[in-house]
Amino acid sequence: MFNVQWFNVQWSMFNGQWFNGQCSMVNVQWSMIKNVLLSFDAEEFDLPRENGVQLPLEEAVSISRGGVSVILDILKESEVQATFFCTTNFATHAPDAVRRMLADGHEVASHGCDHWRPAPGDIARSKHTLEDLTGERILGYRQPRMAAVSMQELAAHGYLYDASLHPTFIPGRYMHWGAPRVPFVKDGLVELPMSVTPWLRLPLFWLACHHYPFPLYRWLCQRTLRHDGLLALYFHPWEFVPLREHPEWKVPWLIHRQSGTPMQERLRALIAALKRQGGGFCTYRRMAEEMKNRL
Ligand SMILES: [Zn+2]
Repeated sequence: MFNVQWFNVQWSMFNGQWFNGQCSMVNVQWSMIKNVLLSFDAEEFDLPRENGVQLPLEEAVSISRGGVSVILDILKESEVQATFFCTTNFATHAPDAVRRMLADGHEVASHGCDHWRPAPGDIARSKHTLEDLTGERILGYRQPRMAAVSMQELAAHGYLYDASLHPTFIPGRYMHWGAPRVPFVKDGLVELPMSVTPWLRLPLFWLACHHYPFPLYRWLCQRTLRHDGLLALYFHPWEFVPLREHPEWKVPWLIHRQSGTPMQERLRALIAALKRQGGGFCTYRRMAEEMKNRL
């Protein structure tokens, strides 16, 4: 079912400065391989809180659950696997959705506990809660809002990989120009960064899919996949809900544009285009395991 491609893998040692000091990393460069890592952050819909609207947790989870259902349908009809980074707030209030993720062959990983208020201890707490709920080992972590996270702490708690790094510049969020663009291993942990374009590091994350003209977005994704041999993308379930029909949530135009059906069509079209290009879809876990096995 999984399709990790390791044809013509080249290894090189990469010495560089990243985050808080010197580190040595094993850097992998691919050519002639095309792995696609699709991911979705299944969190309670807390975005309205940025504009002073606080939805009850049950409603915030219910909105995301609706989006998850739509995404799972699209993945099933497209016959591809993906990774769902779930907060424990989401997973404990929507266990049916989490069960379906697993039943459909997708990976469940951790996105912390409370998306609005990450707290010390969430790394361990979320792992235990999700493992109890699913009966599966939880090996991946993504910090809410892609904030920085301690790789040592993740490794100490038994995680295999982190997916919290977005090596670009988003004003007001983060500045990671100097971070590696492609996967690497550090402190025993695999880092699987969000893809950005080669050279200019244009972001390819969810918001780019809303705002770039779709043919341009699709071309940039295909170009990055061809160049890196890997394309890692992330979206949110609530993007697949028609947010503009709910002015009471006060979601800004920047975010609700293309939400709902247009995003569903874009995801379908993007998957189809990447498949035509020869992209093999696999989970983050599968990719991280393959990397560790080759060390
Ligand atoms: Zn999130």
